[in-house]
Amino acid sequence: MLTGKHCVITGAAQGIGRAIVETFVEQGATKIYALDRNIDNMQDWQTDAVIVPVALDVCDQDAVANWVQTLHQQHAVIDILVNNAGITRDNLLTKMSESDWDAVIDVNLKGVFTMTQAIAPLMIAQERGAIVSLSSVVGTDGNIGQTNYAASKGGVIAMTKTWSKELARHGAQIRANCVAPGFIETPMTANLPDKVIEMMKGKTPLGRMGTAQDIANAISFLASDNASFITGQTLKVDGGLVI
Ligand code: NAP
Repeated sequence: MLTGKHCVITGAAQGIGRAIVETFVEQGATKIYALDRNIDNMQDWQTDAVIVPVALDVCDQDAVANWVQTLHQQHAVIDILVNNAGITRDNLLTKMSESDWDAVIDVNLKGVFTMTQAIAPLMIAQERGAIVSLSSVVGTDGNIGQTNYAASKGGVIAMTKTWSKELARHGAQIRANCVAPGFIETPMTANLPDKVIEMMKGKTPLGRMGTAQDIANAISFLASDNASFITGQTLKVDGGLVI
């Protein structure tokens, strides 16, 4: 359960992020700052007492710093940060443009750094907190056409291991973990050709794509006090795709 927890979730407008928000509400979170660069999809949450939609681009360091400054001014507590915002710009190595490399590294790697660097001081002051970041099985095992994405998701695992050591110094109970999804049914994968989807299902022992809820369940566990002795880990949630 996440009873009483105050949370920040990025990329919350759709897909896995939306499922995380709704799961955290069910689990009893008190306050959820639901961040995305476009919050038009969050109309249904506008009147919710728990969910606070925030229009914020995780790549915009000044905007992130200004928003976190308002949290400081409100003496806000942040117990949980979920770094979920992510994008793909796939192409073979020999065809990948510099702009596609930069875009993916900016959101998936630097965005996670920017958000965590901004929120970490609140957790350090509280001497507690849980950070869960979205990696991918591609970050550990690679994938054809995803040089930029694999680099970003491998980097998230490396940053997470670093934070699990650095932020827990002086007895602080600050944990950092990753969830590495396999092949999940969200808007990110919606436009893939049917033959790719069937091939990926065929490679997955459990024989299906994962759901956003499958991922949100794992994230809510790692974010909760039930995982209070788990840090620096990457939990694969992939139906056995990578074993
Ligand atoms: P999604 O459906 O595309 O949702 C991602 C959300 O993040 C979108 O609302 C997107 O907004 C937002 N976002 C992108 N860049 C942002 C930025 N700079 N600032 C704030 N928000 C931003 O993706 P998903 O499938 O739910 O994926 C969520 C996470 O899981 C990602 O980190 C992804 O890499 C990871 N993951 C997904 C899969 C999968 O199979 N789906 C597998 C492994 C890992 P826009 O629509 O405006 O871009």
